[in-house]
Amino acid sequence: MNCFDCIVDNEPVPVVGICTVCGAAVCSSCAHVGSQFTRHATGFSSAESSITETRMIACQSCVVALTARHAGRYRFDRPAGRVRQLN
Ligand SMILES: [Zn+2]
Ligand SMILES: [Zn+2]
Repeated sequence: MNCFDCIVDNEPVPVVGICTVCGAAVCSSCAHVGSQFTRHATGFSSAESSITETRMIACQSCVVALTARHAGRYRFDRPAGRVRQLN
């Protein structure tokens, strides 16, 4: 399978993951690895809660959409491929 966004640009690139929002296959340059924070009730009042952080993979367009509207619920670092190149 090849990256959905890179195929659009006529440059087939192998996939490393799937965007968990829109389902597009993404390459290491297009995949953003981030976290989704979900609040859970732990008691009887709304003040009693905890937050679970889970890993999330998303494409560039979904990262822009999620962080623009729900900045407190999602956190994304740089694309996975670019993080690796810095090491
Ligand atoms: Zn997406
Ligand atoms: Zn790509």
